[in-house]
Amino acid sequence: MTQRNQEGVPEEILEKIKRLREEIEYHNYRYYVLDSPVISDAEYDALMRELRELEAKYPQLITPDSPTQRVGFKPAEAFKEVSHREPMLSLDDAIEEQEVYEFDQRIKRFLNLSPDTPIEYTVEPKIDGVAVELVYEEGFLTVASTRGDGYVGEDVTNNIKTIKTIPLRLRKFEEDAPEIPRRIDIRGEVYLNIEEFKRINEERIQRKELPFANPRNAAAGSLRQLDPQITAQRKLDIFCYGIGYVEGHIFKTQWEVLQTLPKWGLKINPLVKLVPNIEEAIKYHHEIEKIRSTLPYEIDGVVIKVNDLSLWEKLGLKARSPRYALAYKFQPTQATTQLIEVVFQVGRTGAITPVAVLKPVKIGGVIVERATLHNEDFIKNLDIKIGDYVLVQRAGDVIPEIVMPIKDRRTGLEREIAFPTHCPICGTKLIKKQGEAIWRCPNRGCFAQGVRKIIHFASRNAMNIEGLGSRVAEELVEKGLVQNPADLYYLKLEDLMKLSGFAYKKAKNLYQAIQRSKKTSLSRFLYALGIRHVGEAMAQLLAQRFKTLEKILQATQGDLTSIPGVGPEAARSIVEFFKDEENQRMIQRLLQVGIAFEEEIVSEEKVSPVLKGLTFVFTGALKNFTREEAKELVIKLGGKVSDSVSKNTDYVVVGAEPGSKYQRALTLGVKTLSEEEFLKLLRDQGVPENLLKKEPSNLDKPLFTRSLF
Ligand code: NAD
Repeated sequence: MTQRNQEGVPEEILEKIKRLREEIEYHNYRYYVLDSPVISDAEYDALMRELRELEAKYPQLITPDSPTQRVGFKPAEAFKEVSHREPMLSLDDAIEEQEVYEFDQRIKRFLNLSPDTPIEYTVEPKIDGVAVELVYEEGFLTVASTRGDGYVGEDVTNNIKTIKTIPLRLRKFEEDAPEIPRRIDIRGEVYLNIEEFKRINEERIQRKELPFANPRNAAAGSLRQLDPQITAQRKLDIFCYGIGYVEGHIFKTQWEVLQTLPKWGLKINPLVKLVPNIEEAIKYHHEIEKIRSTLPYEIDGVVIKVNDLSLWEKLGLKARSPRYALAYKFQPTQATTQLIEVVFQVGRTGAITPVAVLKPVKIGGVIVERATLHNEDFIKNLDIKIGDYVLVQRAGDVIPEIVMPIKDRRTGLEREIAFPTHCPICGTKLIKKQGEAIWRCPNRGCFAQGVRKIIHFASRNAMNIEGLGSRVAEELVEKGLVQNPADLYYLKLEDLMKLSGFAYKKAKNLYQAIQRSKKTSLSRFLYALGIRHVGEAMAQLLAQRFKTLEKILQATQGDLTSIPGVGPEAARSIVEFFKDEENQRMIQRLLQVGIAFEEEIVSEEKVSPVLKGLTFVFTGALKNFTREEAKELVIKLGGKVSDSVSKNTDYVVVGAEPGSKYQRALTLGVKTLSEEEFLKLLRDQGVPENLLKKEPSNLDKPLFTRSLF
């Protein structure tokens, strides 16, 4: 680039481009060489976008070594170098639907096709792992390498050989399989499943090491080991998705590649699809995004590739990416921000949860200001401090959580987090049971517990007292008007008028709502009591089995555990709850004010057996139910539940981190449902909402903001 080319470019733009390039280079090094990023991918992508936009505006400033023109990073010195016969490039990415249509239109313009000619694409999950190339000569795996800078990668042959799903020799596994080519370079993504990723991270946290930020860094860190024995201990896996150089076979389409690789023993992702046009590709993206949280491995988008390989030739490559493919990414799930303060939240049962107050940060379109720090051990093992930059994760409906501190961004001004020894609300000394990680406030009169109990009691799916939210509950307890839920029914209109902002009308409305709630169902009442381990579905189950409160009060642990779906812990908790004198008094007082149970909305006689003849298998953790609750629900609705997947299974419901049952379902072609789809199926069959819904988490709604934190 000559000085003349730069003329007319404002000095601050030159400076900005220089700064961006340096910053991106630094992050590339942290990410690709150290496998230890200090900013989230979304933040990195934003830097890249900014640089790309500036370079588009001032193309004379583009240099061949700009990060926008290069892939990955040069191989680390510790590894032998391997040259790729054909470059291993990156992918252009898109996050908005509009960008995907533009990609499709760009291709048509390039190929001189009319804008409405449909183009066939393959669509594939974009696996969040590390790209590798496997060279097979005369069928034998001879060399395996990482992508490196796209031209020269690192020799990881010995490590790759520890991955059991990678064949050391290709064979014809099906009769119609083509002959094994003389040489074929297979491209694939080595990844770690989420369960294994968590296991590795837990081990690291226990050892007081920083965890990996995401499964991709963990996979890269595990593969790029100098000692293959370490790689062998991590259960790495692979999905193959393409080819590089080939000698001795001609493929015509990407779909043919995807169909052929498994016939030679190479594993491909089961969710790949061939679609007739870009609209269908976009639809696929939405479908996959819906089941994303149920997959046992991390994906960060879908890859859309032109199917016809002869068009690949015509479309060609740009400096760092091909023109025929696009990564259509999902909303990001991680961001980095600063931890400003830690507050300690007291739950309904006295559990103390440290909650990080964060400098507000946008994750996937939502502003996150609070995130859980789980418990004291988590803070200690990770050595998290106030003032730290932290990696925050918000995936699906799960409560936002801190993943780790970014110690390399420390300034020295950070402060230790002091875990309280006493309840931050009532001052009682906290206790921790042996073997548990959670500290609890043992004081049953604790203000915080009281408020939470009231909120829960009044909530929509419990007694459904309209107008009794957290603010009112807090004030009622604070003013000494209410100590436990029974007190609500002894409030007079004058009492309610003492609440701030409550004139006659508002007080009357609340008073009437409280009175109305006396007419309820046994299951709602049981749920409202806030017994540990008794969620809505469990409350339904108890109401159905015992029919009356008296019988539940008398039930022994044995009676309870004999019910499918009630585990020993829940049984113990129920018996203890009703044995407690204070609870007995509260129930007495509730009954005295005239709490009355209507017949269950969903009672055994009344439930229509909408799932009759259908067999379900559950795998992975669900959000709305425990697995036992979900099974019980299916049985209640006339369906069958099995513990293993067979051809006779109708649906496999796949929760987070599913096990081998999910793989088996895919192998057998049994229909899988995400939790959302399972709920939809039930809703479509007219199953009442109160059986399906769970109260939203209140982590984001700070309690006691006025006086107590
Ligand atoms: P990329 O990961 O966005 O896309 C290209 C890669 O996708 C391919 O190399 C391949 O490995 C993978 N892939 C997965 N499934 C595939 C499939 N079915 N077909 C084809 N390819 C498939 O691009 P990149 O250049 O590898 O890396 C950029 C990413 O790394 C960005 O998401 C960026 O945010 C992140 N990054 C982050 C930091 C940081 O500091 N946080 C630094 C550098 C890069």
